[in-house]
Amino acid sequence: MADRRNEPVAVIGLGRFGVALALELVKHGTEVLAVDNDPQEAQRLSGQLPHVVAADATDLEALTQLGINEFGRAVVAIGADIEASILVTSMLAEIGVPDIWAKAQTAQHATILARVGAHHVVTPEHDMGERIAHLLSGHLLDYI
Ligand code: ATP
Repeated sequence: MADRRNEPVAVIGLGRFGVALALELVKHGTEVLAVDNDPQEAQRLSGQLPHVVAADATDLEALTQLGINEFGRAVVAIGADIEASILVTSMLAEIGVPDIWAKAQTAQHATILARVGAHHVVTPEHDMGERIAHLLSGHLLDYI
């Protein structure tokens, strides 16, 4: 598998998950293109993130204009709008992004995201719940 650790990351959807992810990547020196369709949200974050744009990621032309097809890695951090999350994930796969991460709300959502081309699917609330349970029950080694 290619080592993409130094490659820029496109983060699509700047809710709590997307923002935390983008800020942490930037903090560690990774170049991030952050995209949200809410111009106010994009504006609000422009002081914290070097490259933030307001664009509707379900618009294929907008994605290509932003050069997302050149990215080696992208994260779909749209949650509540499941239709948009699936559409964006499938378009990233279609334009050939080689490493797609996507956030799912439910197990069914996760299955669909994997089917339409996500290489990694995360379910943060579920995964964190499991992780805390393991920490509480002392099964730390599973999660180090
Ligand atoms: P959180 O990470 O806060 O839990 P969430 O799972 O509730 O977020 P949403 O708030 O639905 O997810 O989406 C996260 C962000 O994605 C929002 O800021 C929203 O504006 C953005 N977003 C939704 N649809 C699109 C789209 N088509 N293109 C770009 N950004 C979008």
